[in-house]
Amino acid sequence: MNIVFLGPPGSGKGTQAVRLAKDLNITHLSTGDVLREAVKQGTDLGKQAEGYMTRGELVPDDLIIGLIEAKVASGELKNGFILDGFPRTMPQAESLSKMFDKNQISLDKAILLKVGDDEIMKRLKGRAQQEGRADDTEDVIKNRLEVYRQQTQPIEDYYRGRSILVDVQGEDTMDNVYKAVLEAAK
Ligand code: AMP
Repeated sequence: MNIVFLGPPGSGKGTQAVRLAKDLNITHLSTGDVLREAVKQGTDLGKQAEGYMTRGELVPDDLIIGLIEAKVASGELKNGFILDGFPRTMPQAESLSKMFDKNQISLDKAILLKVGDDEIMKRLKGRAQQEGRADDTEDVIKNRLEVYRQQTQPIEDYYRGRSILVDVQGEDTMDNVYKAVLEAAK
């Protein structure tokens, strides 16, 4: 099973993707996690990405596409995967399609977690207090939502047009959302 997770920051993507990957026994790849680790380790990638991340902007496409290319080439994704946080722009989505065609990988589903803006602000402010993520302050949250709307939302239609998009209502308990996610992955 090869799946892409879409949804605004705070939609619960990460939590749901981790759980689904475990149950389906497939690889979970979060570009946000890879980048945060790179920043922590002080690698070149981390140094290049850090400023964008703290401002709530997207890191440049070529950096992130290179990262995904390396994962595809490594064979890590060959037994199934969930991509969490990628693609985030149309050029990323188009590069991914080309990469997959070249490597005879097919994308089965794009699961979209839908959560309204008010609920997202509430959740992300809560997360900021608990986890202290540098990009969870109010201004940066607003910026990340705006970036989602402008750069990532067009991808929803791209996958809808390919008939692999499944909408999941994300404003419910974690367990109920997960049930819907499982259903969407069938
Ligand atoms: P996330 O944990 O998925 O919300 O990602 C945290 C931050 O990492 C984002 O706000 C971006 O700065 C960066 N990031 C993660 N994935 C991508 C991507 N596919 N394209 C560009 N930037 C990304």
